[in-house]
Formats: sequence, C-alpha cells, structure tokens
Amino acid sequence: MSKGRILIVGLGPGPDKWLTPEASEALMVATDVIGYIPYVERLPDRQGQTKHATDNRVEIDRARHALDLAQQGHVVAVVSGGDPGVFAMAAAVFEAVDAGSDADRATDIQVLPGISAMQAAAARLGAPLGHDFCAISLSDNLKPWDVIIRRLKAAAEGDFVIALYNPASKTRPQPIHDAFALLRSLKKPSTPVAFARAVGRPDERILLTTLGEADPATADMSTLVMIGSSETRFIERTGQEPWLYTPRHYGVGL
Ligand code: SAH
Repeated sequence: MSKGRILIVGLGPGPDKWLTPEASEALMVATDVIGYIPYVERLPDRQGQTKHATDNRVEIDRARHALDLAQQGHVVAVVSGGDPGVFAMAAAVFEAVDAGSDADRATDIQVLPGISAMQAAAARLGAPLGHDFCAISLSDNLKPWDVIIRRLKAAAEGDFVIALYNPASKTRPQPIHDAFALLRSLKKPSTPVAFARAVGRPDERILLTTLGEADPATADMSTLVMIGSSETRFIERTGQEPWLYTPRHYGVGL
C-alpha cells in the first residue's frame, strides 16, 4: 500500500492565477479532494480522483474523514478558499489530530499556504495593511458574540487596521450592523472603510467609503471589510478610484 498523506491546500481567493504552483501540484497528485461544496465543485474533474464535497458546518467530520482516508493509503487534498490556516480547514484537521489517536499523530500532514482574502483585497485597494493590522471573523458559530465585541473594542483601542472576515450571511445579517455601531462609538467618522467583495472573481465589487457614511448592509458573505486605523488614508485621483493605504511610519504625518 502506498503511503497516505494529507495535503491541506489553500485555493486562494478565486482565480487560478492566485493559486500557487505547489497547490496546483497537490491537486494533481491527490487521489481524494475533500472540502466545502463550492470549492470542490469549482475544481476540474480528474480521472482517478474522488471528490468529497460537504456542507460548511461539518469541518470536524471532514477532517476525520481525511485522516481515515490517509491512513488507508490515500493522498488527500483538504481544500479551503484563501489560506487554509486563516479561519479554515488547517485548524480543523489539527483539532481532529489533537482529539485523535497515535495513528493520527503519525499521519503525514502538510499545510500548503494560499493568498488570503485580506491580502487580495489589500492588493486591489492599494496598501491598507502597510502597518499593524488584525483579522477578526464576525462569525459567531464558533465563538460567543461577547468575545467578538471584546476583540473589536481592543482592536479599536489599539488603533489597528481591522480586516473583518465572515461579516454577514443570509442567516446572520446582524453582526456587521452591531460591529459598525460599536466601531462608530470608538473611532472617527472619517475613518476609511472598504467593502471588497469577491476579489479576483468575475463578480468582484469594491466600495470605498468612511465609517460615518458606510452602509453595513453592503457586506455579504463574499465580502472582506477593511476598516482603517487613524493613519489610513485615501489618495484621491482624477477620474479613478482613490488608492487606500496606511503609512509605514506611525504618527509622523506627511
Ligand atoms: N481561508 C479564507 C477565509 C475563509 S472565511 C481566506 O484565507 O481568505 C470566509 C470569508 O473570507 C468570507 O466571508 C469573506 O469575508 C472572505 N473572503 C473569502 N474569499 C474572498 C474574496 N474572494 N473576496 C473577498 N472576501 C473573501
């Protein structure tokens, strides 16, 4: 029996040009691909490769399944959008290993990085992550809402640029409204805000605004919301969208 292994693969934010050569190679050699339905369906069918597409809420079962298949000799690609270590499958696999057996600990596992949504969004916008920043998921499926509030307050207090993942979904429209209400009480209304939706995909949409004027309902589940620090600024351009950037020096001005 050939030696099984798990490759935890980041697919990037969407287009193939943002898939690393290492990730592409992993998708070629895998005997099995496991992941959330839309990611798995987007991949081309390959002879001899089995696709296992599952619903988003069963990450731990998916991780367990990957470990079982790898221990039977399969080469399993566990796929996530963006980077697999950012709010994604890598942690789910390690959670299963942590709760698992010696065989799980001995399983050959490799994590292959990908471009995360905040990096793709930042590249589109200019350089908003040029100074200290933090990433916060607004999904309260996996943590209590009061923890999210505590972290948003601390991020505002620390004057970080904030990248918000999972700002809203059809079943959870409220978090982004509550997050904006809180941030408006702590930060200046002129703070730059960007809604970067489906970056790199055909339905990409970028909206630049300010904390005072933003409509939180602009965000959906494909949106990365970027909220500036006190230093983040727009560079206005004639006939084009402004650049958004955060200077590398803090408190120096221009
Ligand atoms: N592992 C992924 C994040 C998964 S959480 C990564 O590293 O990017 C899912 C959230 O990521 C979405 O709700 C959205 O906030 C963000 N996201 C993923 N792809 C995106 C894209 N192409 N454009 C904007 N945001 C995206």
